Amino acid sequence: MGYPNTQLLIHGQWRDAINGKTLAVINPATEQEIGRVAFAEKADLDLALDAAQKGFDIWRKTPAIDRCKIMRQAAVLLRERSLAIATLMTQEQGKPVAEANAEITMAAEVIDWFAEEARRVYGRVVPSRNLAAQQMVLKEPVGPVAAFTPWNFPINQVVRKLSAALSAGCSIIIKAPEETPASPAGLLQAFMDAGVPAGVIGLVYGNPADISSYLIPHPIIKKITFTGSTPVGKQLTSLAGLHMKRVTMELGGHAPVIVCEDADVELAAKAAGAAKFRNAGQVCISPTRFLVHESLKDSFLQAIKAQASALQIGNGMDEGVSMGPLANPRRLAAMDMFTKDAIESGAKVEMGGERIGNKGNFFSPTILSNVPLNAKVFNDEPFGPIAAMRTFNTLEDAIMESNRLPFGLASYAFTSSLKNAHRLSHGLQVGMLWVNQPAVAWPEMPFGGVKDSGYGSEGGSEALEAYLNTKSVSILCA
Ligand code: NAD
Repeated sequence: MGYPNTQLLIHGQWRDAINGKTLAVINPATEQEIGRVAFAEKADLDLALDAAQKGFDIWRKTPAIDRCKIMRQAAVLLRERSLAIATLMTQEQGKPVAEANAEITMAAEVIDWFAEEARRVYGRVVPSRNLAAQQMVLKEPVGPVAAFTPWNFPINQVVRKLSAALSAGCSIIIKAPEETPASPAGLLQAFMDAGVPAGVIGLVYGNPADISSYLIPHPIIKKITFTGSTPVGKQLTSLAGLHMKRVTMELGGHAPVIVCEDADVELAAKAAGAAKFRNAGQVCISPTRFLVHESLKDSFLQAIKAQASALQIGNGMDEGVSMGPLANPRRLAAMDMFTKDAIESGAKVEMGGERIGNKGNFFSPTILSNVPLNAKVFNDEPFGPIAAMRTFNTLEDAIMESNRLPFGLASYAFTSSLKNAHRLSHGLQVGMLWVNQPAVAWPEMPFGGVKDSGYGSEGGSEALEAYLNTKSVSILCA
């Protein structure tokens, strides 16, 4: 299957880096180099910044109805190209083609939703104390945006930022992941082909820290958005704060799954199990701390083990594979560390716990029970296919454990009682809660975390608000 080299997108042109530098792209299933990606430095970034300023001057004056039409055409093109782009994503990231395809189909949904919202960015008229005056609240695009996105969802992480920015009338420079560059390039090509003017969208790759430390303070950039780990998010937020730039931060989580005494165990295992092993667990909203009522311990364990045993692990390009390799060797080393530490702390390995083979970053679906609270896996985000479990006796205990960590992104609960669901929805310190279902991140719903999991939302009307300035205007008409 072919895999292209990826260039930078600057002012509507795909181009090599000025210095000609490139980085290797490695297939995580085969460990082979499959292509190269251009490596931008300061001179390339200066061109991208200049283009973003010019792009902003055009796009902010493009009527919302026209922005909407172009964006919807991008969604049409993306759907047409979905399978072709999905095979690129699988080769660079590892996830099965069907999962990659689903990510792209969802991306088209995201574009459509934000495109429609562009037409509904209303200001308001506020009754004046002086009847000769008119008071208005205007919404305006914040300006050129710098976006930093990770490798776990190469398209989804870009499309939420890109669509919200374009919908609001902003231009955007995206620093997409060097490890998975070709599929985001496919996404941006769909926007270019749909008619987005040159300069409105830019795509760069390089050294993430060098690029963020240059773009964030730059006077052209007015808004920062980042998805990635909490430590990096804090660094970028601090830098943005120094330069008074607005931020949206979508950071790490450690999602509790609370299986209450009255839960449907089969449903809980099926829904949470599917969510756990999707993308080999490399998902910020992946269920990670399984808190199961003492009375259901054995039945839940049995059900989730059956779920995990049914997974077909292999190269995501192969028919029937349902879990691919981890995206990079760093995750493999992390899974090994989490498992060994849990065992040393007293946890029991119910299944998995080991690398599969010695070629490719394959790690077995792993279930750990009786995990002590001090085990690393119950404190640091595992970001891999490990389900760590412990039991609880009262719902209060489960809520207290859920809220113990500094993270507050996703959470899941299974119960047949409205009373429990009500207590959980008010008691959990999280940005998102799914009750009796797997996570579905529809674009119309807010998506984001609290506490160390970040700031702001990448879904719902809140997402658009993050790219708008509010201007208060009073006109004395007399
Ligand atoms: P990392 O913290 O080095 O990088 C995470 C992401 O941030 C990468 O895409 C990287 O390119 C980017 N990044 C790193 N330093 C940056 C900087 N100074 N400026 C701009 N971007 C920067 O770690 P990693 O090994 O790639 O991933 C490990 C951890 O990151 C995971 O355990 C997980 O907690 C977190 N992560 C979260 C998400 C998410 O969806 N929230 C996605 C990927 C990784």
